[in-house]
Amino acid sequence: MILILIGPPGAGKGTQAQQLAREFGFRHLSSGDLLRAERASGTDLGQRVAAYMDAGQLVPDDLIIEVILQRIFGDDRGPGVLLDGFPRTLPQARALDDALRRHASSVRRVLDIHVPDDVVLDRLTARRVCPQCDSVYHLTFRPPRVPGLCDRDGTPLIQRPDDQADVVARRLRHYHEMTEPLRDYYRRQGLLLTIDGNQPVDRVTQALRDAVRDLLAPPPASQRPPG
Ligand code: ADP
Ligand code: AMP
Repeated sequence: MILILIGPPGAGKGTQAQQLAREFGFRHLSSGDLLRAERASGTDLGQRVAAYMDAGQLVPDDLIIEVILQRIFGDDRGPGVLLDGFPRTLPQARALDDALRRHASSVRRVLDIHVPDDVVLDRLTARRVCPQCDSVYHLTFRPPRVPGLCDRDGTPLIQRPDDQADVVARRLRHYHEMTEPLRDYYRRQGLLLTIDGNQPVDRVTQALRDAVRDLLAPPPASQRPPG
């Protein structure tokens, strides 16, 4: 089962995906985490995407499409995959649809986390992340137990360079121009479910959990095929 989380940077996609992955056993595939890992390892891909990421620009479609599709089909464990941060443009969405069709599969639901721009700015400038395990914190809303250290592995937390206010503003512009049109693309296919992301983390999780449970529940007997 392929589920997509979309929403502006800072909507809470990573936070919620980590929680849903823990609860339901989904594989969490974050394009941003993946690219940051490539950079940390100094790979050719990592070097090619670095300047785009630091400037708050999207990396070219052909680069990201190839890596993500490899990962989606490279490992079949678990009941499904939660895509976080991909697709982010119409060409990416179409490439995903084509690849899934070739595997006799399709996107099952697009969970659209809606958060206004001013809230995004507050969230991202106070976001701290663990460079080791990608856990996500917020100085006020989700502080680590020991200030400055990851709860899971004790690694010193960092601020992402692209979480500076001026870069966030550019990322938001790209979101509205390039990614928001995907909402219509998926709405037309009857796949879009919009969730209010401007409420406490646990409330957002509950809304997403309900949506996922609906998808996993067996259909009522009246809708099951005979036999
Ligand atoms: P995304 O993956 O969409 O960019 P994150 O999950 O990294 O977003 O969340 C961005 C920041 O906002 C983090 O600091 C996170 O702790 C915080 N955050 C996430 N969801 C909420 C929420 N519902 N209320 C307040 N802060 C949140
Ligand atoms: P994120 O962690 O999702 O905020 O992504 C961080 C950065 O990685 C983005 O600002 C882009 O530069 C790059 N990136 C991640 N996913 C994609 C994607 N699907 N398409 C293009 N660029 C991406």
